Amino acid sequence: MARRKLVYEGKAKILYEGPEPGTLVQYFKDDATAFNAEKKATIEGKGVLNNRLSEFFMTGLNNIGVPTHFLKRLNMREQLIRSVEIVPLEVIVRNFAAGSMAKRLGLEEGTQLPRPIIEFSYKDDKLGDPLVPEEYIIAFGWATQQDLDDIVALALRVNDYLSGVMYGVGIKLIDFKIEVGRIWENDYMRLIVADEISPDSCRLWDLETGQKLDKDVFRRDLGSLTDAYTEVARRLGVLPKGGAAPMGKPTLIN
Ligand code: UDP
Repeated sequence: MARRKLVYEGKAKILYEGPEPGTLVQYFKDDATAFNAEKKATIEGKGVLNNRLSEFFMTGLNNIGVPTHFLKRLNMREQLIRSVEIVPLEVIVRNFAAGSMAKRLGLEEGTQLPRPIIEFSYKDDKLGDPLVPEEYIIAFGWATQQDLDDIVALALRVNDYLSGVMYGVGIKLIDFKIEVGRIWENDYMRLIVADEISPDSCRLWDLETGQKLDKDVFRRDLGSLTDAYTEVARRLGVLPKGGAAPMGKPTLIN
């Protein structure tokens, strides 16, 4: 059998050529990195959980009319996605101060923000994904003003959806990151949610106890990352009954 063609390998995921033009297969690795890949580990089962969780969030978004790249899950670690042209920005939405914002402004983590705040980082690992103002984005041609208006609208819809879903299972959405991609339909360009949505890219705190259920568990050595992600998946009903490792029927891809 011919091996699939590798398109791109990142820190936590691999992209392979998909079975049809315009599609890709996204494979979730067990690798975890933090602090611009200075801290690294392999955490067994993380990829399986993130594949399931990203499927859950992206399907929900698709169902309420927020377009995403997700097409279908293929097996435990892989999903079929639409191929997009990634906008080279990390779009960060914050509801409560944490992480780099808390540090920069001297705010206590968990302080409620006056309104959701959106910020952009330029996607470049060598530079450590620097925070960039809109003026840079437009001047350097990474996105137009119209794109940014659309991205902000998209990010706020994702925020409302995710905040509500998480609140429903007793979790506070502190902040998250999304990536956005361009697709062309005839002559029209559309911006859709791409990459992944998982506890790797969100801050999730238990509503009652404040316990962290996201990648900060790994960043700050707070315990078992798999236990934290499993708890999120269990609350959302993403794991099969009994809480065993998520199982998926493998699908052969040519
Ligand atoms: N984030 C991410 N990838 C990045 C940077 C940030 O997924 O390369 C997420 C992070 O998990 C958090 C939010 O974006 O949910 C805000 O992160 P922050 O800017 O506070 O950076 P950090 O403190 O994680 O370095």
